[in-house]
Amino acid sequence: MKKSFFILFIFSGILCLTNLQLLSASEKLELKTTEATLSIDQKGNLKVIKDKGQIIQINTSINNLWKITLKNNLNGKESVFVPDKNVRIKKAENVLQLISGNFSIDNKTIPVEAEFTISVKDDAFCFSGSLKSDSKEWIFKELTYPDIEVIKINDKNIKIYWPGVLGQCFDNPAKFGSRSFEYPGNDGTMQWFSVNSSTSGIYIGGHDPLQGSKKFTLSYNESGESFSTDVRFPVYTTEFTIPEVMIKPYQGSWHIASKFYRGWYDKNFKIASVSEWARKSAGYMLTIFKQQNGDVMYNYKDIDRVCDIAKKLNFDLVGIWGRGVGGHDRLYPNYMPDNLMGGRGELKKAIERAHQRGFKIIVYSNGTIMDASTDFYVYNGIETILLNERKQPELEYYVKHDNSTPVIFALGCPGSALWRKTILDLATDAQSLGVDAFYIDEVAWRGPLMCYSKNHDHALPQEAYTKYRVKMMHDIRAKMKETDPEFTIMTEGINDAMLVDVDIFQGVPGNINSPGCFPEMFRYTFPEAIGIALNSDPSLRRYDLNHEAIFGLRHEIMSRYQGDVDYLNYGKLPSEESYAHVNDTPDIKQLNEVPAEEVTSYTHSMFQFENDNADYFRSGKFIDEDGIKITGDEILGKGFLNGSKMGVVVWNKNLSEKRDFSVSVPGYKLVKATEPGKSEVNASSSLDANSVRLLIFEKD
Ligand SMILES: [Zn+2]
Repeated sequence: MKKSFFILFIFSGILCLTNLQLLSASEKLELKTTEATLSIDQKGNLKVIKDKGQIIQINTSINNLWKITLKNNLNGKESVFVPDKNVRIKKAENVLQLISGNFSIDNKTIPVEAEFTISVKDDAFCFSGSLKSDSKEWIFKELTYPDIEVIKINDKNIKIYWPGVLGQCFDNPAKFGSRSFEYPGNDGTMQWFSVNSSTSGIYIGGHDPLQGSKKFTLSYNESGESFSTDVRFPVYTTEFTIPEVMIKPYQGSWHIASKFYRGWYDKNFKIASVSEWARKSAGYMLTIFKQQNGDVMYNYKDIDRVCDIAKKLNFDLVGIWGRGVGGHDRLYPNYMPDNLMGGRGELKKAIERAHQRGFKIIVYSNGTIMDASTDFYVYNGIETILLNERKQPELEYYVKHDNSTPVIFALGCPGSALWRKTILDLATDAQSLGVDAFYIDEVAWRGPLMCYSKNHDHALPQEAYTKYRVKMMHDIRAKMKETDPEFTIMTEGINDAMLVDVDIFQGVPGNINSPGCFPEMFRYTFPEAIGIALNSDPSLRRYDLNHEAIFGLRHEIMSRYQGDVDYLNYGKLPSEESYAHVNDTPDIKQLNEVPAEEVTSYTHSMFQFENDNADYFRSGKFIDEDGIKITGDEILGKGFLNGSKMGVVVWNKNLSEKRDFSVSVPGYKLVKATEPGKSEVNASSSLDANSVRLLIFEKD
């Protein structure tokens, strides 16, 4: 039976001077940063202005500044509270305190206290505080704070920088509409966003060192030509320290906001130091040996053929996917080597032969799902699966073929010690096979899922995919490094809570060509993070390869079906029949546009070009266009800093025509220009259609 919740809304009356309990009527409720002023007037209006508020202004009533949801643990009833007339406002030194409490439900007083603070910290306005309930029945379920009604940007040219995957940029507020992201996860990879005019911006960011779950919402109101925004936290307990949310109007481009966030991040975290071979790698070649439906495309001993393909393309990292008895994901997490494919001994020998040829090997696992048909699920499910609020499993399926029964997967919970141990055991087993790296699918990609199981380590539902997800990856990486300090961990998706414990992030961005995709945002904030752009085809289109290179991203191809195998082994261009019964085929039309040999040749020379200039493409610090002047129609250029040198990669995006361009870097002199397959070229000559050039500068 569906459980129903009683939701009771208690709205405040209109707040006016007489019921705003100011400590002193004469006291000025005002805070200042170097660039902005925050004030609360006698009517309870909170205002933030940058300079005199000509461009950027925030206006919101403290009547709506927060929203608290209480939940009755005994009967599931919920009550929502917004600030009422009993809010007391105090000003201590540089802190405004707004205190509320003893909420009334059904004429009964609930002994709770909520203190909201606004202060100046790190030259930004910091919204924080604490919640406490002494009730035996009522806990805090959820908190929204701050809730800002009006952000006004007086400029025709408004841009929104949003942390979806590697970043998104929206230049049409009406089209942006209302959006939310949940941090940490692939849709909210960092806990900040920025809304900008041509000359300035507003940074809104969570400075929460626990990297806890939170949901940011930004909505555009067309009639008022303004934005509203709020940050919501799951609480589920009786005492809660409100994570700091910073609001900072600033002068300059979004890069200022990015640097501000990174400055805070560095005070709290240290990004994983990645082994040299992993940093230098061009990416990886994913090869499914056995599919979910049982199709065997390679036996273990066929590794030599797989390495031949990798060599032709210039990949140095080979991914062995679908190595288990059930094929790719089926029967997971039972991932013992398959005896019919050659057994454990054959697999070890195959990996050793690949090593002798200079390749590194990575193998697949999944950190978030299990096949619900397995003995593992039957016997260990209740100890390992994620339970939703109704205490039900969350089920998923990936229907790869239209003629075989889809496998049903249940979501696992990293808050389960047994689930974490299961993935750790798989990693240990993989390491004993001799692999160099371990792939754990979907871990960083997932949002902050909630688990309501009482059988797991997490005290609170929101800790499952925050605190314990990080612990799972931390424990695995630490254990692997004990045996092999160069060992590398890769996952799918990205979020900055994982940067400490993961070396490489695959599948980012999902589609580099999608509208609004703005990899500059994450790359500029975390230039040392290694991202592999998603490509589920067995080939890399020249345009995509150039596009990825310009951001210093790594590359991938996937060999998943027989049509892919034929394309990669024999250069056979696929038809629809090549992928009979496959639901999610590669882009067949695109594969037919260019001969396979031509694609292979350009891929090889581009990887070589990047390897030869690894100081920029692999180890350089991505600086976007900071300090660089680039002109040219359809020309995109990005800079990579390395000591006293800077590499500027320029790409002519036009598909058929040459383009002229110019690049200058004040304070630097040009020392060399190079292109794929051409070690030295004339720096200022026109750039061929859909071609890239690297200009190397040195400090004057
Ligand atoms: Zn759990």
